[in-house]
Amino acid sequence: MERPRFIIEAKEAESMAQEAGLTVPQLLPTLVKSAQGLARPPISNFHVGAVGLSSDGRIFIGANLEFPGIPLHHSVHAEQFLVTNAAVHGGRRLTHLAVSDAPCGHCRQFLQELRNAQEIQILITSSQEDPIFKPLSSKLPDPFGPYDLLDEGTPLLLEIQDNGLGFLGNLKNGFVENLENNESLLKIAALEAANRSHAPYSGCPSGVALMDVDGKVYKGSYMESAAYNPSMGPVQAALVAYLASGGDGYGGIVAAVLVEKEGVVVRQEDSARLMLKAVSPKCELRVFHCCSGSNGCIKAET
Ligand SMILES: [Zn+2]
Repeated sequence: MERPRFIIEAKEAESMAQEAGLTVPQLLPTLVKSAQGLARPPISNFHVGAVGLSSDGRIFIGANLEFPGIPLHHSVHAEQFLVTNAAVHGGRRLTHLAVSDAPCGHCRQFLQELRNAQEIQILITSSQEDPIFKPLSSKLPDPFGPYDLLDEGTPLLLEIQDNGLGFLGNLKNGFVENLENNESLLKIAALEAANRSHAPYSGCPSGVALMDVDGKVYKGSYMESAAYNPSMGPVQAALVAYLASGGDGYGGIVAAVLVEKEGVVVRQEDSARLMLKAVSPKCELRVFHCCSGSNGCIKAET
């Protein structure tokens, strides 16, 4: 069976558009139906597909995820999946987005975290009128967003982020000498994810790394929204990375590491345990605390 596709490289996107006699943005709505097929909504059975174009010409796909057994706010919306998929793969800006149904308020808000959010062109394929691209500003006027809380120089979601986190210790007796060890691999991957985490509002970045039965590692960074509630947890982000790389059943996930700061005001640990227990009960979660600044705090170099 062909692996589900969550990314289309720029060159291929261009040739697909050319073949269909379309521009690349015009190609996006034609891919929405297949994106819907990638959704996993066992609670609502409502399949949402989102297809986005990044400024580097790549197409990123997103679909909604629901998790039976835990509260609904753990769900991942298709637009969030898409943005996370772009984040995991180094997409820096989103210019166009085609989606099967009108983006909900939560997603309109989440998209505010992106640079030039109000200019993102959105097309709703199920729209009764002729579906055309319209800017996000037409769907969420008078937005509350990052600039209400941050200064202009703060990196936004998808922009290069380095939170300067490390572990206490030194290279001799620290984690680096045990690189062979799966847990050390996961620990370093989760630290990298925490370093890329977008948490400018709470100052509590975190990251999760998952390992599947084949030993492959998937990283997810916690991503905050200025409105708090639409924030995306690090386990959800890592699950997106897992699915976008061809992961199938969540049961294939066997180990996980969460890295966050100790004693902070926004902690992920309990939520991460709940989430992982729901999706892959046999998966073991280890939690490590990181630090920032000097005084023996060592950043992983990989
Ligand atoms: Zn939504």
